[in-house]
Amino acid sequence: MLDSHGRNIHKLRISVTESCQLKCSYCMPEHPNFPKNEEYLSIDEIIYLVAKLADLGGIDQVRLTGGEPLLRKGVGKLISILKKIGIPFVGLTTNALLLEQRVDQLHSYGVDAINVSLDTLNPERFSRMCKQTGLQRVLGGIKAARDLDIPVKTNTVLIRGENDDEIIPIIKYANEIGVMPRFLELMSIGSGNDQHHYRHVSYLEVLKKVERELGTVTIIPVPCDSTAMLYQVGELRFGIIASENKPFCQDCSRLRLSAKGLLFGCLMNSDGFDTREYIRSLEFDEENFVRFLAQVISTKPLERIIGSENRMNILGG
Ligand code: SAM
Ligand code: SF4
Repeated sequence: MLDSHGRNIHKLRISVTESCQLKCSYCMPEHPNFPKNEEYLSIDEIIYLVAKLADLGGIDQVRLTGGEPLLRKGVGKLISILKKIGIPFVGLTTNALLLEQRVDQLHSYGVDAINVSLDTLNPERFSRMCKQTGLQRVLGGIKAARDLDIPVKTNTVLIRGENDDEIIPIIKYANEIGVMPRFLELMSIGSGNDQHHYRHVSYLEVLKKVERELGTVTIIPVPCDSTAMLYQVGELRFGIIASENKPFCQDCSRLRLSAKGLLFGCLMNSDGFDTREYIRSLEFDEENFVRFLAQVISTKPLERIIGSENRMNILGG
């Protein structure tokens, strides 16, 4: 669906649960209060909604996220049915704690690509940053996905004084095993708000550091609605998602659906649109739904909204 600024809105990010085993300090509050399962859209409701969004809104890329999507019962079925109804791309963003044991199933259901959070390669640091042990399981999950030739990208949120000394080791590790490493600027959203002013690392610092330590960095061209900028240094590749210092709002092609069924035009919007009445209405009215979609899309900003109280585990990063 084209918006009034000519942006082709064709990607949908779905948070399938707010729950997570980890408590990354920039994402999860100290004492989270997770909803009961019945408060979430059911797997069948999500499928119905995506089918309508694909048919009437042109959605052709879906990414499942959370919270931790592998904690949601039925996520494998969701992937397999989304593929069966013809969604060309279905990706998953995960902390990978359960990936090694689930990856065969995900692969057989047709997952197209997996993004894995990887903030550090140091087990003690992992436990400190995520308030839980498990780095070896994460690395095992990444390897298992690569062994099946599933395309994998890693996401590293850079936190000053915590993991900003791991940029080069993570680039080398990821390239060695055939994974695209990406560094994310800490965003001023939810729990990230409190630490943003003193822990944020700008993408320019990343580029300077890589140039200093590895040599000249060149840009790899990417589609205009790509969230990440890609770079090459010698034989190595890496990406940066500079949501704060180089926002991509003008080319953004995404909608976001929360686990409870609120559809958002933007991660930073304070209000979402409730999709339940459309899903549950016995006589689904196509014209009305297209109008509803146009209304959601009209809330997509052209410029970055600074700061948001939304929580990443609710809306799905
Ligand atoms: N649990 C899964 C995971 O960690 O990959 C999926 C959900 S998580 C919210 C999705 C992505 O959002 C992760 O890569 C995480 O690092 C990122 N994220 C969460 N809070 C963030 C923040 N304040 N700034 C930047 N990225 C953030
Ligand atoms: Fe959990 Fe992912 Fe948030 Fe970390 S970033 S607390 S793994 S939802």
